[in-house]
Amino acid sequence: MIGLYFRGRVGLPMISRAGVPVVDAHSHYFGSQTLRSWAERGRTMESFAKRLNTRTDMKGFELPDENWDTAQRWVDELDRYGVEAMGVMVGDDAYEEFKEASKRFPGRFMGFRNIDPAQPDAPAKVREAARDGLRGVKLYPSSWRGMKVYDEAVYPVYDECLRNGMVVFLHFGITIGSQADLRNGNPIDIQVPSRDYPDLKFIIAHFGAGFFREVLLMQYQADNVYMDSSGSNSWMKYMPYDLDLKQIFRKAVQAGGSHKVLFGTDSTFFPRGWRFNILEAQVQACRELKAEGVLKDEDLQRIFHDNVLELTGMSGSTL
Ligand SMILES: [Zn+2]
Repeated sequence: MIGLYFRGRVGLPMISRAGVPVVDAHSHYFGSQTLRSWAERGRTMESFAKRLNTRTDMKGFELPDENWDTAQRWVDELDRYGVEAMGVMVGDDAYEEFKEASKRFPGRFMGFRNIDPAQPDAPAKVREAARDGLRGVKLYPSSWRGMKVYDEAVYPVYDECLRNGMVVFLHFGITIGSQADLRNGNPIDIQVPSRDYPDLKFIIAHFGAGFFREVLLMQYQADNVYMDSSGSNSWMKYMPYDLDLKQIFRKAVQAGGSHKVLFGTDSTFFPRGWRFNILEAQVQACRELKAEGVLKDEDLQRIFHDNVLELTGMSGSTL
């Protein structure tokens, strides 16, 4: 079992408070610098706070003072809930802080660097991230102006990812960011790159955030397109038919297999911290599917723990 070896300094796998071993594949690392600069840009902050209020379960977030220690706070959260590690998306402004954090707490964080392929140094940033021990990149086609994931201009980023054994997370579908351009938000757009890079692993965040049908169709079309379960999946509300977590997991596993689904929480800010409620709800949905004979224990083990470690090459080693 992967958990036996994963952390390298404990003899037994860590079991989360929800009763299964857990690695969170998708959360975010914001440095204290990022939060401070948001606070200074008053208008951004105001509109951001408003969007959080109306579209998420966060009623606000804490701003850092001098004693703020982001890394320690996340590790305390992981310990509190018995979570082995968290995969985090890291922007440029948090990059140095994140590197420090992963050195201070080996085995607890795995990094995925936000990359804007329109920047001329994008491939160099991927290389740097690989050298620094990060395990993949995150692209935001729904948010970043004019970003089409099938454009030749993005291919140098894919080349570097392939060369360095890094995975590619993608945010398609609806987004909390106010700069969205949903014309580029359809996961079908990744079909051609997934065909051109059969050895690269593409992970679509939030089950496609509204484009669930397309993510399922991709399971027929490609073997290297995965999905993560992160966040509240509130996109369900905007579907023309009823959908719940149990139904989502059932369809996802039936279309792609349990090795295609990676658990994540999309944890971001304090005081909300690590989103245990997301884990509870998703474990519950999967347990119900187990009772119905759709999933087995090994499927839960894969979804909540093993898949992300295998995809990032972490299985059997320390982070
Ligand atoms: Zn996210």
